[in-house]
Amino acid sequence: MALVNEHFLKLQSNYLFADIAKQVNRFKVTHPKAKLIRMGIGDVTQPLAPAVIQAMHRAVDEMARKETFHGYGPEQGYPFLIDAIIKHDYERLGVFIEPSEVFISDGAKSDCGNIGDMLRHDNSIGVLDPVYPVYIDSNVMAGRTGTFADGHWSDIVYLPCTEENGFVPQLPSRRVDIIYLCYPNNPTGTTLTKEQLKAWVNYALANDAIIMYDSAYEAYIQDPAIPHSIYEIKGAKNVAIEFRSFSKTAGFTGVRCGYTIVPKEVTATTLKGERVPLNKLWNRRQCTKFNGTSYITQRGAEAVFSTEGKAQVKATIRYYMENARLMKEGLEACGLRVYGGVNAPYLWVKVPDGLTSWRFFEKLLYEVNIVSTPGAGFGPSGEGYLRLTAFGDRDETQEAIERIQHWMR
Ligand code: PLP
Repeated sequence: MALVNEHFLKLQSNYLFADIAKQVNRFKVTHPKAKLIRMGIGDVTQPLAPAVIQAMHRAVDEMARKETFHGYGPEQGYPFLIDAIIKHDYERLGVFIEPSEVFISDGAKSDCGNIGDMLRHDNSIGVLDPVYPVYIDSNVMAGRTGTFADGHWSDIVYLPCTEENGFVPQLPSRRVDIIYLCYPNNPTGTTLTKEQLKAWVNYALANDAIIMYDSAYEAYIQDPAIPHSIYEIKGAKNVAIEFRSFSKTAGFTGVRCGYTIVPKEVTATTLKGERVPLNKLWNRRQCTKFNGTSYITQRGAEAVFSTEGKAQVKATIRYYMENARLMKEGLEACGLRVYGGVNAPYLWVKVPDGLTSWRFFEKLLYEVNIVSTPGAGFGPSGEGYLRLTAFGDRDETQEAIERIQHWMR
C-alpha cells in the first residue's frame, strides 16, 4: 500500500485562482451576455516582441535540419543565454555572477516551488504577508508550516505588509532560517529601497539565514533608486538566491522561461554543522529532475537582450505601466485608496469600509462585470484589499475605470 504525503492534504482547498475561476464561471452561466473585463490573474495580454518571434522562427528552422538540430540541451541552460543574462541583467548593475551560478528554467514558479527540495523540513520560514501563494503552498507540501487555524499556519513567521507600516515589513521577532522576499511585490505592487533591502541582507548575514528573493517584476521598476537585484546589496551573494522570469519582462507566460541565481557562497549546514554549498545541490537537483528549457525558447529569451528586443520589450512594459497610471489616477479620483502601480504592474486597492475583500470582489464581478483578485487570497494581511492588474488592453482598461467611476458615483 502506498502512503500519501499527508502534508498535501493540509493545503487550503484550492489554489486561489482556481477559486476565482469557479466564481467567474458561475457568473458567466447566469449572465451569458455580460462583457467581462479581466483584471484578476497576472497574465500578460500583448504579443511577444518581433525580435523574439524572429529568433524563435530561426530556431525552429534549425530544428528542421539534421546538421543544426538540437536534442537534449544542458540542464542548466545554454551558454548563449546564460552569458546574455550575466551581461545584460547583472553586469550593468555592477554585479559579478559566474556562468555556473545561473540556472535556466521553465519559469520562476517552478523554481520558487522547488527550491525547498534542498532544505530540511524543519527549517523555520518567514514569509511576507500578503504574498504570492506559491511560497507558502510549496512549504505546506514539504511539511514546514505546521497546522492551519484562523487563517494562519502555526509554523510560519508572517511579515505583515500593511498600510500602517507603509508596506515595509519589519524584521522578524523570532529567528527564521529561510525568508521569502518578493520585490517589486506581488500583490501589493510596492518596492523596497536599497536601505530597506540592506536591513534584510544584514539580518540574514547576522542570523545565518537564507533569503529567497523573487524579482520576477524587476523590469517594471521605473525609479532608478530602487534595486533590481538583491545582489546590489553588499554581502547578499553570501545569503541570497534570486529568481527571475521572462514571463512578465517579455510576455513569456505561455512560452515558459525563467532563471535562478544560486551563488557559490550560499550555504546551509548539516546537523553536524558542516557547511554545504547550495549551488552544488541545486545543480544536482536540476540534473536529476529537470531536462532543460527548450532550445527554441532559450533562443527567444536570448533575443530579449538584443538591441531591437530590448526596445520592443521596453515599449510593452511602458504600455502596461501607462495602464497602471490610468488605473491609479482613475480609481483615486473616485475616492479609493490605491497602492502600487508605480514600479509594478499591480494595484493594491483598499476595499471600502464594511466590506470584506471577497465581498468587494463579488460586487465588482456582479455589478460592474470586472474580475479582480480578493486580497484575502494572498494571506491574512491581504484582507481589506483587492488586487488589480495592469496587463489588460488599453481600451478595456479605460472602460473598466469608467465603469468603476460610474458605479462609485
Ligand atoms: N513570482 C511571482 C511573484 C509571480 O507573481 C509569478 C507569476 O505570476 C511568478 C513568480 C511565476 O512566474 P513564471 O511565469 O516565471 O513561472
